[in-house]
Amino acid sequence: MSWLERDNESIWHPFTQLVDGFEHIMVERAEGMYLHTSDGRRILDAISSWWVNLHGHSHPKIAEAVAKQAQNLEHVIFAGFTHAPAIELAEKLLSILPDNQSKIFYSDNGSTANEVALKMAFQYWYNRGNEERKKVIAFEGAYHGDTFGAMSVGDRGPFSAPFSPFLFDVDFIPMPVKGNEDEVIQKFYQLVESDQVAAFIFEPLVLGSAGMKMYDASFLDKLINIAHDNDVICIADEVFTGFGRTGKHFASDYLENKPDIFCLSKGLTGGTMALGVTSSTADIMEAYKSTDIMKTFFHGHSFTANPIACAASIASFELLMEEDTQNQITNISHWQSEFKEKISKHPKVLNSRVLGTIFALELKTESDTSYVNEVRHKLYPFFLERNILLRPLGNIIYILPPYIIKKKELEQVYSAVEEMLESL
Ligand SMILES: *Cc1c(COP(=O)(O)O)cnc(C)c1O
Repeated sequence: MSWLERDNESIWHPFTQLVDGFEHIMVERAEGMYLHTSDGRRILDAISSWWVNLHGHSHPKIAEAVAKQAQNLEHVIFAGFTHAPAIELAEKLLSILPDNQSKIFYSDNGSTANEVALKMAFQYWYNRGNEERKKVIAFEGAYHGDTFGAMSVGDRGPFSAPFSPFLFDVDFIPMPVKGNEDEVIQKFYQLVESDQVAAFIFEPLVLGSAGMKMYDASFLDKLINIAHDNDVICIADEVFTGFGRTGKHFASDYLENKPDIFCLSKGLTGGTMALGVTSSTADIMEAYKSTDIMKTFFHGHSFTANPIACAASIASFELLMEEDTQNQITNISHWQSEFKEKISKHPKVLNSRVLGTIFALELKTESDTSYVNEVRHKLYPFFLERNILLRPLGNIIYILPPYIIKKKELEQVYSAVEEMLESL
């Protein structure tokens, strides 16, 4: 049997319809911008392999750090024990997170980082003896992961439909756009003034999975301000927006009012392996300082703070801080903006937008903008035939490259997008 036949026999892939005849692409190795396939193709990864990769594939510095760590301390229980990679990474993250962040809690991925954040917020009120604050506010269309807590605060659409009876109650507010600002603020006021809201969770400035929907920092600032005036804990899910994606280290760096809890993952290890981080303020942590065992935060995973993942993250962090990388982030942001200017007036383009290194365009189609828009089935193969990996969200095409991409390579992606627009 071939590898692909064996794949078909034995593997259930994520976010993939189980239909006969679908063949996955077999990747043999990856280096820099490119995936090398078993049939000899070289595919340009223009979406950073689901938004995780920062410095290109199989980066030698990260690979070296991983190999070295694996030979010295591969893993150890993180309750009662600690290790240098976890401490060093925590210090590094705190050095670039806003000043109000004081502690790093490790978990396994983006979903668990959000689970930890929600539990941390709920128990904060529990430990304080407040039994009223049980509500959560989130944005319509949000995505915070695929575990139950994360699904509960996310979009109630086709993806969560089978689980809707099992998701906890959440108050959703529309994402702010020009025209509905007063309405959203009014609704937010009403919700938080009840003194029943434990937390407000949001993807700052960009709702990624919703289709790279962008909104103004000034607006989020207003919401956080109102939340803080009413003692509501603000959770910034920067799982996607962290580590330079929006042009600054964190999307929250565009805000004046700082969130209380941050969730990080995806680019944290440079996209090498899974690791999640939830950081919190000293005030939140204070609610847990007690000799009463009931006030302990009883949450942890077997692989919490895995030393190899921490070592990969430290290597990725050092690469991110290099001047070359920071310049590249500026360059990519510039190129993306130029391309947006160029194609924004195209008759097939409904909307185009850029924030930092993130570019997105919404195609005009017969049906509404959504993930299940049929045009997706044409777009994905169109780009793959040109050896470019783009994975449109319905009729939304986005370009999200690793920071090592060269102008020439990005132009190749832009040409393919233009060719696609002409072909419609
Ligand atoms: C991807 C993503 C998550 C989930 O992260 P996983 O590591 O896939 O569990 C959560 N929040 C946001 C904003 C994301 O983009």
